[in-house]
Amino acid sequence: MILKLHPYADVFLRTLVACLRNIVQPTILAALTIGALAQQAIDTGPSDPRIVSALKQVSPARIQASIEKLVGFQTRSTLSAQDAPSIAAGHGIGAAREWIKSEFESYSHDCGGCLEVKTDTFTEGPADRIPEPTEITNVYAVLKGTDPESAKRIVLVTGHYDSRNSDTLNITDPAPGANDDGSGTAVSLECARVLSKLRFPATIIFLTVAGEEQGLNGSRHFAQMAKTQGWDIEAVLNNDIVGGDRSPLQDATVVRVFSEGVPLAAADTDLRLIRNLGGESDSASREIARYIAGVARTYDSGVKPMLVFRLDRYLRGGDHSAFNREGYAAVRFTEFREDYNHQHQNVRTENGVEYGDLPKFVNFDYVAAVARLNAATLASLASAPAPPAKVHLLTRELQNDSTLTWDPSPGASTYEVLWRTTTSAEWEHAQSAGNATRITLPLSKDNVIFAVVAADKAGHRSLPVVPTPER
Ligand SMILES: [Zn+2]
Repeated sequence: MILKLHPYADVFLRTLVACLRNIVQPTILAALTIGALAQQAIDTGPSDPRIVSALKQVSPARIQASIEKLVGFQTRSTLSAQDAPSIAAGHGIGAAREWIKSEFESYSHDCGGCLEVKTDTFTEGPADRIPEPTEITNVYAVLKGTDPESAKRIVLVTGHYDSRNSDTLNITDPAPGANDDGSGTAVSLECARVLSKLRFPATIIFLTVAGEEQGLNGSRHFAQMAKTQGWDIEAVLNNDIVGGDRSPLQDATVVRVFSEGVPLAAADTDLRLIRNLGGESDSASREIARYIAGVARTYDSGVKPMLVFRLDRYLRGGDHSAFNREGYAAVRFTEFREDYNHQHQNVRTENGVEYGDLPKFVNFDYVAAVARLNAATLASLASAPAPPAKVHLLTRELQNDSTLTWDPSPGASTYEVLWRTTTSAEWEHAQSAGNATRITLPLSKDNVIFAVVAADKAGHRSLPVVPTPER
């Protein structure tokens, strides 16, 4: 009888302790109780009317025009022509590059010169898929942040403007690349067009790279340049094959978001921590993926992200991994279902089957929806304060409470602690810490994963930062 009473006594004591805590920290306990009942994924903040109105400007017709223009250059093979006569004739990758540059420049003209349009040119090869030294050019536009300190923080959207057909070395036959990756290029362009009408404290870069099909050459060069120059790129959104191919089994309401688990750039000490603490699903890239899911709940983009917890699809790679290798957090957007007859194929019909990456297979409304989700993510991150730095979880002694500390973040007015059980994909609970930079929660750190986010007065939330243990 006494033995049977023990568990109840334990519950009674815990309730008593909780009541005492309730007197000390009423808001925390209330939120913990509500959180425990709610068990729902966390948003990235209240909807911002400025962002809502920017999303309304995203135009499927404009996206269609961009993709058709890119296809019109016949081939955008990285190895194709880029001499002046070919550019004048509108043929080859050189012509595509010049057109992208002129597009960015026209958006800049419309916003009073708000965009700085730049190129990053280098010579690559010879290499496996580059028979002779080849000049490769990345084209990008910078929307510089309005706050001198925050402007050092960069969020970046990218797509590759090069294309290919069945043969990576073929430079003469058509390589329309409407979906792969005219769609991603159009997303970068459209994000630049609609977001350049607004101003943000942090910097946004709209990038289009070449050389992807030859071996991620453009993105690798750009990521290495950024690292060498110490750029603080907080998030990279790579859009590659976001055309929503009109195949019968397509789901045009879903876009996949791929993110690395164990970071490609993790050092041995990082790997040891990841192994010991169960950090396999908390790379900075994965926090971006979760953030995107939150953005999609706050803003109606017309498409739902399906988080895929792996670097990329089988047998395939992409430009986000080039950023991951340099230690930057980066994710990949790709349509729900790919049609391999419409990628990396010579344009032809065989046994009644049409092959080739043609505009008629692209769903421009879908690309527009993906562009909205990207724009909402970029705008949310560029509006938010920097993520809190030096986030620590105190582990000096064995205890069932958890204490987190962090450094104040410039521009932040409040902080929130997020947590989820170790088996959950997304953040489940949030507790405000007010403007404090330390909080103790009556939760065991052994059972959950914590993160801290910074928010400004309007509620724009930063990316979450998972604490490192501090003894
Ligand atoms: Zn691609």
